[in-house]
Amino acid sequence: MSTATTQPFELPRVPALSRVTIDRSEALRQDPQALRAAWPTARVIVLDKRGRTPVRMDDGELALRPATEIAPEPPEDAAFLGRAPEGDYWAVLDVPEPDGETIEVPGRFGVPVTHIVADGERWVGLREFGDELDDTGAGLFTTALALRSWYRRARHCVRCGAPTKVISVGWASRCTGCGREEYPRTDPAVICLVHDDVGVNGERVLLARGAGWPEGSRSVLAGFVEAGESLEACVVREIREEVGVTVRDVRYLGSQPWPFPRSIMLGFAARADRDAPLTLAEGEIEAARWFTREEVRAAFARAYEPRANGDGGLRLPGNSSIARLMLEAWAAAEP
Ligand SMILES: [Zn+2]
Repeated sequence: MSTATTQPFELPRVPALSRVTIDRSEALRQDPQALRAAWPTARVIVLDKRGRTPVRMDDGELALRPATEIAPEPPEDAAFLGRAPEGDYWAVLDVPEPDGETIEVPGRFGVPVTHIVADGERWVGLREFGDELDDTGAGLFTTALALRSWYRRARHCVRCGAPTKVISVGWASRCTGCGREEYPRTDPAVICLVHDDVGVNGERVLLARGAGWPEGSRSVLAGFVEAGESLEACVVREIREEVGVTVRDVRYLGSQPWPFPRSIMLGFAARADRDAPLTLAEGEIEAARWFTREEVRAAFARAYEPRANGDGGLRLPGNSSIARLMLEAWAAAEP
C-alpha cells in the first residue's frame, strides 16, 4: 500500500559511467606547450582494437601507463582527456592486443565474453567492467571509448567526402579537403521505466525483449531521439511504437554516456495502464509483459554463470547500464 510519505523513486547514485573526477580543461587543449611540459608526469589509458583496456589483476583498477613509457612527447594521435591534481590523463587508441590466455566472464545479459590475461593484467570491456572501476577509472575509460567511437565514424568529411584529420589533441577533426571542422558527436537516446498506476511507483514494471537478444533477457524500453523531437515526446512515441501503450507522467531520472557506439542514455520514468493491450513492434520487440517487484528482485539476487541458463530465468541488463540502476531503484521503492 502506498502511504502519504511514499516518494517517487529516484536513482540512488550517479550511474556507473557518469562518474567524473578529472577536469576536461578545454583551455589546455589549445595550449600544446603546457601539455608537453606536463607529459613526463602524465598517465595514459590504452585501448586495443576492440576497445578493451588493461586492468590490474590484483586490485581491478585501470593499468595506466606512464606517459614516458609510450613516447618522449605526446604522440600526434593521442587524446588529452583532462587534468587532475596527480597529473594529466591521456588516451592512446588501437594499441596491439597482447598475447595471453583467455578467460570467460558474463557480458551483456550474462552472455559470456572473453578477456585476455597477460602480464598480470586483464583486458576488459567497458560494458561488462565499467561499474567495477573507481570513479576516475570509469570516467577515463568511458571518455576514451567515446572518442574512439567518434573517430571510427568521422574519417571522411560530411560536406566534401575528403579524409579528415583529428586535431585539438583529440577533440576535433578537420577536413583535409575543405577545412570543415567537426566535434565529437553523441546521439541522444531515451530509456524509460514504465510502471503501472498502483500507488506512487506502481506494483509492476513493463519489460521487453528486443530482437536478437538472448533467451530470457528483458529490459526497459529505449529508443533514439528523432530530429525535431523533444525528449518527452520521444518517450511517448517510442513506447507507443514498441508495445502499443500510451504513457503519462513522464519524469526525468538521470543520464549516462553509453559509447556503444556513441549514445547518451537519458533515463525517464512514466506510468501506464497495465490492463491496456500490448501490441509489439514487429521485428523490433520479441516479447513484453508486466513483471512484479518480486520477479525483478529475484532476478537481481541470482548470479549469472558465464555459461549458465537455458533455465528460462529472467536476465536483466548489466551492472554498468542505466537500465539496471533504474530497475534497482524501482525494485527497492514502495509502490
Ligand atoms: Zn570537406
